[in-house]
Amino acid sequence: MFKPSQSKWKVFLAFPTLLCVVLFPATASSAVDSTPSPSPSVSPTIEPAVSPSPSVSPSPTVSPSPSPSPTRDARFIGDFNHASSLQVVVNKQRRLSPVTYNPATIRYFTGTPISIDAYQPLKRMAAAMKAEGAGTLVLNSGYRSYATQVAIHNQKVAQLGQTAGERLAARPGHSEHQTGLAADVSATGQGCVIQVCFSSTKGGKWLAKNAHRFGFILRYQNGYTFYTGYQFEPWHFRYVATDVATDMFNRRFKVLERYRGLPAAPNY
Ligand SMILES: [Zn+2]
Repeated sequence: MFKPSQSKWKVFLAFPTLLCVVLFPATASSAVDSTPSPSPSVSPTIEPAVSPSPSVSPSPTVSPSPSPSPTRDARFIGDFNHASSLQVVVNKQRRLSPVTYNPATIRYFTGTPISIDAYQPLKRMAAAMKAEGAGTLVLNSGYRSYATQVAIHNQKVAQLGQTAGERLAARPGHSEHQTGLAADVSATGQGCVIQVCFSSTKGGKWLAKNAHRFGFILRYQNGYTFYTGYQFEPWHFRYVATDVATDMFNRRFKVLERYRGLPAAPNY
């Protein structure tokens, strides 16, 4: 049932390659990242700063393909075009729709905001990681608003020029973090925070092997930059729900775009 399918969303692929993303170094997103709060247990629901875009959305005439179960949430099934879908695919060729989308409800994990959809799964994953001796998970960056991304992008481009700046800062509307479903994580005391060497840490190894059990996929795997447009990011996990994540893991799909039958997106 999770067979990759092209489906009728090709029209969205034609979106302009305007906005953007980021391979943010630890410094690029300091406004939102890290800085674990002293009281990680507080989970306020915040009013997202960005108001929904007026009309960019092609009102979801979403007719999810044959549902495996009529009772399942349609968001799990295969709408990878609309920003509110748990299955949305956003990359350098696929801008979010609506472009200023923000998740309806935010929760905080280790002081960092993330969509409520990914929050409980992240908590379960952190608990299992600890119980299985792989360390204490920290969420360094989760949800980032469109406005935040505009600021980061503008700053980097002004500082370094378009090309160099965009290697670090995604164009607004093209960052997976805006969905609230992406989690940049690390493990307390294991170092390599937001660095490639995280893949060699105890926590990084455990996550690569087990994240799918909790609905997360390692989004930018080693050796697939030509397809994803991103370097290896062993810290960046994306929530897609357990059934999809497990299916991808078991069938050895390394790239979400490929799983969905979507073209490579190496550049804007
Ligand atoms: Zn990330």
